[in-house]
Amino acid sequence: MKPSIAIDGPAGAGKSTVAREAAARLGLTYLDTGAMYRAITLAGLRKGTDIHDAKALEALTKTVELDIKNDSTGQNIIFLDGENVTAEIRLPIVNRNVSFVARCPQVREILVDKQRQIASRGGVVMDGRDIGTIVMPTAEFKFFLSASLAERSRRRLAELSAKGEELGLEQMMKEIAARDKIDSEREVAPLRPAEDAVYLDTTLMTIEAVVDAIVGAVRGEE
Ligand code: C5P
Repeated sequence: MKPSIAIDGPAGAGKSTVAREAAARLGLTYLDTGAMYRAITLAGLRKGTDIHDAKALEALTKTVELDIKNDSTGQNIIFLDGENVTAEIRLPIVNRNVSFVARCPQVREILVDKQRQIASRGGVVMDGRDIGTIVMPTAEFKFFLSASLAERSRRRLAELSAKGEELGLEQMMKEIAARDKIDSEREVAPLRPAEDAVYLDTTLMTIEAVVDAIVGAVRGEE
């Protein structure tokens, strides 16, 4: 079976880009687990679900149909009840609400189950918050990517500005810090490095250098 790789870390650490590129170079399948929590959040916002009501969130997660496909570049395409919502799940309103949805244990149970099914085939690169600790504790390789709050905020701002949206650095730093706080302090599967994860501070690293480090570590030990 091909090796599996867990990549965790806070918002804006570059996990998705790095995970996607590492998967492409190693011939593995990429899964963005954050996109799954985002899709449930979008469904809740559309239906007017109270995102602080665990029972309502559980019912919502059980009823929506969530599908993830990989396009020819390995990018995840997310379908919610058959509709392609890949762009919409990145909207600022989803950013602001997703951590409340993701701290709900019932939502996590359903999504983690789906993630483990995908992991059971082996050969996946998954990025998220609890991949090395909960979803794939036996993954052959685990990385925890971080960077300073200011750098992570600048990276997110650059992504937004490429899409024609502008936001101030201060505001972005506040939003990211708020999300990290909820993700790190929740009771179930909080954001934290697995004991056997390799910690990479990417503040001064390019995406390419981070991908090289991961691909090098995997190839070196294969
Ligand atoms: O990775 P991304 O920033 O898209 O994740 C969005 C949110 O989804 C995170 O802030 C976190 O609340 C939640 N998440 C999670 N567990 C994961 C992946 C994401 O709780 N494995």
